[in-house]
Order: sequence, then structure tokens, then C-alpha cells
Amino acid sequence: MKNRILLLIMALVAMHMGNAQDSNSTKVILITLDGFRWQELFTGADSLLVANKEYVHNPDMLKNTYWRDTPKERREVLLPFVWGQVSKMGQLHGNRNLDSKVNLTNTMWFSYPGYNEILTGTADDARITSNDKMNNPNTTILERYNNSPKGKGRVAAFGSWDVFPYIINEERSGIPVNAGFESATENLNEREKFLNQLQEQIPSPWGSVRLDAFTHHYALEHMKKEHPNLVYISYGETDDFAHDGDYQSYLKSAHNTDALIKELWEFTQEDEFYKDQTVFLITTDHGRGTQPLDTWRSHGSKINGAGQVWLIAFGKGVKALGEMENEQLYSNQIAPTVLQLLDIPMVKEIKGSPLKL
Ligand SMILES: [Zn+2]
Repeated sequence: MKNRILLLIMALVAMHMGNAQDSNSTKVILITLDGFRWQELFTGADSLLVANKEYVHNPDMLKNTYWRDTPKERREVLLPFVWGQVSKMGQLHGNRNLDSKVNLTNTMWFSYPGYNEILTGTADDARITSNDKMNNPNTTILERYNNSPKGKGRVAAFGSWDVFPYIINEERSGIPVNAGFESATENLNEREKFLNQLQEQIPSPWGSVRLDAFTHHYALEHMKKEHPNLVYISYGETDDFAHDGDYQSYLKSAHNTDALIKELWEFTQEDEFYKDQTVFLITTDHGRGTQPLDTWRSHGSKINGAGQVWLIAFGKGVKALGEMENEQLYSNQIAPTVLQLLDIPMVKEIKGSPLKL
């Protein structure tokens, strides 16, 4: 009898521990690809651009690599991880050909307002009106999480663009942000030392944005060492190559980012801390134009379609619904979704409502 009671108690304790772990253990990796269009995500290389000498140095090579007969084949060859694996285990929102729409609620349609909306859950067209290095008066979900007892010190952000320390308000929030051309600084491992060295030696094509491999590997090494529960990674190349009018590099960069995200996913599935506990949310800060053709390079309120974005979700608890149809989502829903996943109370300042993933 005693033994039975003991067993019962042990079973109850085990159940309780199991529950406690379940309600607390979700991790979130939030990723953005700056200004990557839904058109390429869902239909692959653009027929009007892929062989256009105006925008492509080597049309034959680019056509060989990314042009196929159907949109389905084109997107698979451009983004093999997204269309080979993510589409089977997660959700892809924003294919307007299927009437699945994701829109910004801010009306600026450029980066700072886009990131502010994604990270705070509320557009702020009154105050966020430029890409200037101004400390964000709004509170991001990274900061809200860091201010909660369970999230304190368990969040980190990495960006290719040097405005991120201001968007996240590193000064006020205390969240470590490695962005622009910043080096890794604390308890460096060998790989971080080498990354710091390479970052000095590999010139970026741009003044305020570094190449994404640096952002990616700084994030990955930090995750291996510190295991934050909430990680934000912002890749930047796609937007800058598009502004440059370089469609060849825009596509190559998108293809490369697909592989970087695959590497992150595979790391989380091999790591005890993240395995089966992690949700990936991937989106973009704005769209770009299509007509007239040259507007593919641009965005902003004057560019038709630049408010059209997309959202990808996969990982713990996310239903495998694949490509979605007939829906309307908004970018301001991402922040409250992250808070809900992390079990942080909602606040009235957040305009968007959480997504049911
Ligand atoms: Zn831009």
C-alpha cells in the first residue's frame, strides 16, 4: 500500500513537472528579410526581370539557375528549404494569387515604420516617419519580454542594418543588439573571433548594412552559447540589392537566406534546449513595386503594392496547413502572437490581435 501511494505521488509530481515545462518552454525565433517581395516568395523569379539586361549582369546564368516553366518549380529552385520542408510542416501566408493577403497597417511602407509595427504590434505613423537613428519611443515585444521575470536576460537581437539599436532602443531596453558593423564582444569563442576578423576584412557593398552571413553567424554562435528564449534576426541584403537594381544579387541573396534559415532550424532541432520547443516566424518589413517595372527597386507610400507583405510560421504547435488561401492578416498581429507564444500578458497598447497558428 505504501508503495502504491508513493508511486501515485511520484506520478503526480512527474505530471506536474511536465505541465510546468509545457507552459513555459516555448522559444521563438523571429526573422525578417528586408523588402523581399511576396511575388518571388510564391512564384519564384520574375519573367520580366530574370533576363532583363537592365537589371542582370549575366542573364543566361541567372535564367539557367532560377528560371523554370512553372511558378511552382521556380519557387522551389529559388527557396528549396521553404518549399521543400517548411511548406510541409508549417504555414505560408500572403500568396495573393490564392487571395491570401498580409498587409502592413502603417502607411509609410519603408523600413523603420515596418520594423516598429512588427516588433511593437502597433503602427505609429505620427512618430515613426523616417529611417533616422532615433531611439524608438515605443516598446517592442523584445523589451516587454526582457522586462518580465521569465524573460529577463533571455532575449537577443541581430541585424544587418545599423539602425536596429535605435529601433529596439538598446539604451532603454538593455537588450543586446548586434547590428550594422558591430563585432561580438562577450566571452568570444573561436568562431566569433574569426567572424570579427573577417568582418573587418570583407568590405560590404553598403555604408549602413553589412552582409547577412555576419549577422547570421553572430546570432547562431550566440544561440549556442547563451540559449536565449527569444531571438530576433534581421537579414538585410535583399532590400539593398533591389535598391541597387541588381536582380541577380537579389535572387542569389534570397536563395542564400533560405539556406541560412535552414541552418538555424537544423541547429534548433539538434540542440537539447531548442529541440521541439521552438517556433519560427518569418516576415518582411515592406513589399516593393511591380508596375511600372522599375518600381521593383523601390518601396514607400508612393509605390503601388509596397504595403503587401507575407508571413511564414513553423515549429512547435504550428499546424501544418501549408499555403493559405482566402484570408487577410496584418503585420501588427506578429508581436502579440509572439507574446502569446511566450505566455506574456497582452497590453492595451498593442493594436493587432494574436494569430491562431
Ligand atoms: Zn529599402
